[in-house]
Amino acid sequence: MGSKIVLFGKPGVGKGTRLSQFLEGRENEFRVISTGNLIRKEISEKTELGLKFKSYSDVGLLVPDEIINQIVINAINSSGSDDIFLDGFPRTTAQAYALLDADIYPDMVIEFFVDDEVVLQRARDRIVCKDCGEPYTTNDFKRPKKDGVCDKCDGKLIKRDDDKEEVVKERLEVYRNETYPVLDVFKEAGIKIYTIDNIQKDSLQKFKDILENQLK
Ligand code: AMP
Repeated sequence: MGSKIVLFGKPGVGKGTRLSQFLEGRENEFRVISTGNLIRKEISEKTELGLKFKSYSDVGLLVPDEIINQIVINAINSSGSDDIFLDGFPRTTAQAYALLDADIYPDMVIEFFVDDEVVLQRARDRIVCKDCGEPYTTNDFKRPKKDGVCDKCDGKLIKRDDDKEEVVKERLEVYRNETYPVLDVFKEAGIKIYTIDNIQKDSLQKFKDILENQLK
């Protein structure tokens, strides 16, 4: 059985960026289930589900648990023995219990931490690929090689609707009230939780060390 690793933290804390730095060149070895990307794909394809998702994500709210639980649990169960990263799930205690009820026990949770002001600044600086979701920045941290174009798939880089300041503030509030308590569910279930201060220079190395140790 492969490992199941939950990446946890405020929206905009930098989990997606750290993950893509870790995966560079070895994307095929792992399976990444990013609920944000799944949701954005439905929205950009304007599916019925996508239109429903948009009405929540545009204002910083979470989409209903039942829909997202079904999608994620099916995706995990069809992954065979792959190592899986869960990025953006679970985000409510009901989602965490749905995982455990489906007998899916993460091997570890890696919690990233930064202050709210850092999240707000990062949202101002962030652009993402419209097609594959890869994040970039308009500052020097992670500029695309060619302005406005994704290095990975040549997709167009856009500003996310939910990166608007008032929406980010709402998302931080939702994180505090609905998502943070997920850690208690995992703690009670005896799942190991690592915390990385994601402003420190060594945070990528720390992330890699934890993963190499788990995946060896
Ligand atoms: P993200 O890119 O992970 O920040 O997700 C973008 C948006 O998708 C969120 O603001 C939510 O509206 C929605 N979303 C992503 N993951 C979940 C989840 N696990 N449960 C509910 N809504 C989610």
